[in-house]
Amino acid sequence: MRALIVEKAEDGSTSAAIQEIDEGRLPAGNVTVAVDYSTVNYKDGLCVGPGGGLVREYPHVPGIDFAGTVESSGDDRYAPGDKVVLTGWRVGEVHWGGYAEKARVDADWLVPLPEGLSTKQAMAVGTAGFTAMLAVMALEAHGLKPGQGEVLVTGAAGGVGSVATAILGNLGYEVAGVTGRPEQAQYLANLGASKIVTRDELAETVKRPLERETWAGCVDAVGGAMLARVLGQMNYGASVAAVGLAGGAKLPATVIPFLLRGVNLLGIDSVMQPYENRLQAWQRIASDLPMDKLEGMMVEATLADLPKLGADILKGQVRGRVVVDVN
Ligand code: NDP
Repeated sequence: MRALIVEKAEDGSTSAAIQEIDEGRLPAGNVTVAVDYSTVNYKDGLCVGPGGGLVREYPHVPGIDFAGTVESSGDDRYAPGDKVVLTGWRVGEVHWGGYAEKARVDADWLVPLPEGLSTKQAMAVGTAGFTAMLAVMALEAHGLKPGQGEVLVTGAAGGVGSVATAILGNLGYEVAGVTGRPEQAQYLANLGASKIVTRDELAETVKRPLERETWAGCVDAVGGAMLARVLGQMNYGASVAAVGLAGGAKLPATVIPFLLRGVNLLGIDSVMQPYENRLQAWQRIASDLPMDKLEGMMVEATLADLPKLGADILKGQVRGRVVVDVN
C-alpha cells in the first residue's frame, strides 16, 4: 500500500514522501478501511510538516480525516463494504491517519457515511466543515435565528470559514465574511456572504472594550486579537463560537462584553465529540449545506501534492476545501 510517510531526522527536521509500505505496519484497531479520499485541514499542515507538538512518534502517516469502504471488521457495527467517515479522535496526530490507501482504527471512532453524501463530498466537508456545522449548531442552541442581524465569519475564505458561510447563507442568515484576501470577495459572495469585512478593519487590538453593537453571531476561525475585538462588537446577548486560532492563541480581551452585554463565548471542539452529536452534525450537513456550494469550494489533489498544500495552509493560502484522492 502507498502512504505519505513523515520521517524525523536527528536534527529534529521532518520530511514527507510517498512510500510503498507493508500492510502489516498498520496500527492496532478493529476496523480496516480502504480509503477513498482524505483532505487538508490546518492541523494536517502541522502534521505533514514540523508536527506542531501533535505527532508523538515517527515515522508517521498524517491525515486527520478519511472516508472510504470497510475492508474487514472485528466489530458488529461495521461489515465489509460499509461506507464510513472518520474525523478527529487524534487520528493523523497520535494515530496513523488517512494519507494512505488503507487505515486501521477503532470502530468507536467511525461514523457511517451520511445518506446523500459520497465519500468525496464527505471529505470536501472534512473536519473543517464538520466543525463549521458544530459551530452553527452551538449558535442556534444559544438562540441565534435568521432575521436577528448579520452573522460574522472570520477566516472566511479558509476551510471552516467557507463551509460556515455556505451553511449560514443557505439557512437564511445575512453573512459578513472577514478575509485578508479581498480578491476572494466574489468567491465568498457565491458561497452566500452578503458583505465582506477586510482583515485590516478588525486588525487593531482592543482600544475600547465595547464598540457599536454590530453582529448577531460569529463563527470565529481566527482567534487572537481579532476575536478579542469582535467580542466588543457583539449585539446584546449574542454568541461567538470560538473554533480556531489561525491568527493566534492569545486572547487580549477584557471581560466587559460578558458583563455588560451578556455576550457568550462558546468553545467548539470537533475531536472528542460524542457519537450522537457527530451523527446529528453530519445529518445537518447533508440537509443544510448545498452540494453545489460545496463543489464551488472544492479543489482536488493527490498524495504527491500534500507537502506543498500542508505548507500553504499554514500560511493561510489554501482557499476553501481540498479533497485528496489517496489512490
Ligand atoms: P484554513 O487555513 O483553511 O483557514 C484559516 C483562515 O484564517 C485562512 O484561510 C485565512 O482566511 C484566515 N487567516 C489565516 N491567518 C490569519 C491571520 N494571521 N490573521 C487573520 N486571519 C488569518 O484552516 P481551517 O479552516 O482548516 O482551520 C481554521 C482554524 O480552525 C485553525 O486554527 C484550525 O486549527 C481550527 N480548527 C479547529 C477545530 C476544532 O475542533 N476546534 C477543527 C477544525 C479547525 P482569509 O484568507 O479569508 O482571511
